[in-house]
Amino acid sequence: MYSKIAQILNEYKSERLITELAKTNRLILLDVDDTLLKPEGVFIYRKLPSDKEEVVLTPYEYGLEKVTPETKQYYDYRDFIDPAKTQQSIEMGKPIVANLSVMDDYLKRGYQIGILTARANEEEVFQALKNFLMYKDKRGELIPVGDRLNRNLVFAINDSNRRQQLQSTTDYGKKAEVVTRLLNDFDEIVFVDDDMKNLKAMFELKSNLPDMLSNKLFFMLAKE
Ligand SMILES: [Mg+2]
Repeated sequence: MYSKIAQILNEYKSERLITELAKTNRLILLDVDDTLLKPEGVFIYRKLPSDKEEVVLTPYEYGLEKVTPETKQYYDYRDFIDPAKTQQSIEMGKPIVANLSVMDDYLKRGYQIGILTARANEEEVFQALKNFLMYKDKRGELIPVGDRLNRNLVFAINDSNRRQQLQSTTDYGKKAEVVTRLLNDFDEIVFVDDDMKNLKAMFELKSNLPDMLSNKLFFMLAKE
């Protein structure tokens, strides 16, 4: 009798273990600027041949620009190259609660958190997000993200090291490349971004991948 119960318990335990393992193999992959937060004190500077003088753009305004491989040279990302500014702009950023609560919901369901941003300075982005990100526990209390943010799942595609591993010349192309690689490691990826160019690239990726990978990819426009 006892052994029967032990057997059932064991089966139950291993079944639960399998479910939990399955759970941890899903990823919510979030953009930073205008998705998790409104960055503070960083701008992009544009000087197209048609611009009389340098135009200062917020990251949000920059997201609305039609930047092509040909026009990219007319944009200056100096604020984003500066490591101290990188870190500060995130730590002092204004949280976008609607998207942070989407992140919370996925965390509760056992998803891992990943970050996919067009920023440089990947290490500073990671450190700053570790200081910035909080999530709500079961009792609704805000807890620092801590180890739930894994360094290996933070991708800043314009980081000097990261850039060498990527072929695309556009940010949306680079994001698609990172997602393609991650699809081999995860059972499901939910991509969240405020920039339509990036979502379009994910849509195209999903349409072109073999079903086995394509079925694992989902995407969502970030809320404002
Ligand atoms: Mg963004």
